Amino acid sequence: MTRPADHPARILVVEDEPRLAAVLCDYLKAARHETEWVADGLRVPDVFRRWRPDLVLLDLMLPGADGVDLCRALRADSDVPVIMVTARVAELDRLLGLEVGADDYICKPFSPREVVARVGVVLRRYRRTGAAAPDGLQIDEPGCRAALHGRWLELTPVEFRLLRTLAGAPGRVWSRDRLMDHLYTDHRIVTDRTVDSHVKNLRRKLAEAGASGDPIASIYGVGYRFDME
Ligand code: CA
Repeated sequence: MTRPADHPARILVVEDEPRLAAVLCDYLKAARHETEWVADGLRVPDVFRRWRPDLVLLDLMLPGADGVDLCRALRADSDVPVIMVTARVAELDRLLGLEVGADDYICKPFSPREVVARVGVVLRRYRRTGAAAPDGLQIDEPGCRAALHGRWLELTPVEFRLLRTLAGAPGRVWSRDRLMDHLYTDHRIVTDRTVDSHVKNLRRKLAEAGASGDPIASIYGVGYRFDME
């Protein structure tokens, strides 16, 4: 039986090793996805425009173009989810951060099964984003206010923007840098500590309003993720 989470999607596989690409495509097809394979980074923008994938699996090290530049270019005019495939673990913070903006990463070496599972998770997360806000949470954009279980939260403007940003992409990992970019429109100097203290206050207010568990998970070394279902 197929769960609804396994809706077929179009997956663009950007990978310069043909054998690895073939295995990935086989596994993704077995999970009912459509795949298109591109080995040359320079062809990615064209194929992306023509084929309109639902998700891009992007190798970091490519001939012709750098995966980081490609991810940035995709991000510039699309919010397609991007999973970065890399052996450079030290760079993960940067990949997920504001500068590059990948949605998730897979470390090489990986099992194709793991890749298929991760693709499913990111697609589910992304589909949920476009749907209604998490259960019980109501965001009144024009009024700059939010309610949980029908009760208005007493939020400062920065806390409201924080909640709107996090809740707008449940399950997404946000670096502090990236969050700051959404919280402040001016270019004031803000430290990581400032973001942490806003998160702390928002957590407290959500808990007081009856949120179950802690909807804002701390991701060690990276930032935060909103997990309210
Ligand atoms: Ca490569």
